[in-house]
Amino acid sequence: MENKKRILTGIRPTGALHLGHYVGALHNWIQLQDEYECYFLIADYQALSDHFHDTDLIKQSVIDVTLDWLAVGLDPDKSNFVIQSYVPEHAELSMLLSFITPLGMLERNPTLKGELDSLPIEQRSAGFFNYPISQIADILLPRAHLVPVGEDQAPHLEMSREIARKFNRMYGEVFPEPETLIGKVGRLSGIDGKGKMSKSQGNVILLSDSKDDVAKKVRGMYTDPNRIRANIPGKVEGNPVFQYLDAFTENDPNVQDFKERYRKGNIGDVEIKNYLSDILNEFLEPIRNKRNYYEKNFNIVEESLDKGISNARKVADKTMTLVREKMKISTYKNIW
Ligand code: ATP
Ligand code: MG
Repeated sequence: MENKKRILTGIRPTGALHLGHYVGALHNWIQLQDEYECYFLIADYQALSDHFHDTDLIKQSVIDVTLDWLAVGLDPDKSNFVIQSYVPEHAELSMLLSFITPLGMLERNPTLKGELDSLPIEQRSAGFFNYPISQIADILLPRAHLVPVGEDQAPHLEMSREIARKFNRMYGEVFPEPETLIGKVGRLSGIDGKGKMSKSQGNVILLSDSKDDVAKKVRGMYTDPNRIRANIPGKVEGNPVFQYLDAFTENDPNVQDFKERYRKGNIGDVEIKNYLSDILNEFLEPIRNKRNYYEKNFNIVEESLDKGISNARKVADKTMTLVREKMKISTYKNIW
């Protein structure tokens, strides 16, 4: 355990997890658990950035995220499940790093810009503007080497490296420069075809959706809007139905056949969507069953969180001792 490199990555508890989380992030996390010492963070402080008015949702989602993690095969015996607010050093480091983060770096961050634009004006708080700094602190606190995330997180990771370099240069070496690892599908589209599948956009298929819900959502999925009849040639590229088929099958000859027939106008949407529903339900069935099991054995959920939090606290304590020493704060006893 000691010599392994570390991973820190996380999810905001603002709802249960969806297919985008799986292909963009979780799939990689599951694979990397043996090779790395992993800290998987449920970022509840950060959830407050745009959900400060809905703390019941955050409270419930902490449990939903943990259940989803267990259900997809993250293993609490190998990895650490951590709730951010139980390790308040996250807030301390975030505050300290905010002083060395140039304002322009936040103003230029394209992900932050887009998210701020889509937030209603009364929800645009100073804390939201600062959330990339809190994320940098999350990553640097366990001195992570690798951060597996979806594509939208790349600008934040770029900032993390810059801030790690700046801190090390100014105060002395503490932080490794964290590398980014993007999932096998960096940005899964929403079922409305409008952009990324996102909890906040209501365009998701949840890992915990029932068989019928999945079928219903897939039936209503956005496809090629120009194709008002089955005999009109359609576009495969940029079509979320085909993006999902590619994401959840491997070298499937049926998918190849559907694409050829779709391009020629030789197949109806219904046939393809029925096939996609079956593929997704086949993938989700064991996840639903495992989730059910952990809901009934809630002690495993609690033990997983207790263990992860306790390990994260030890690492946080070590890092903060170093940080305070390097920044020459909390050191009055050394003055005399
Ligand atoms: P919110 O809308 O509240 O921001 P979200 O659905 O974007 O929620 P996050 O908690 O912000 O979820 O993201 C957690 C992780 O999942 C991040 O690494 C993010 O890049 C990844 N991720 C989220 N949605 C997708 C998606 N549609 N495709 C690929 N990766 C995704
Ligand atoms: Mg997000």
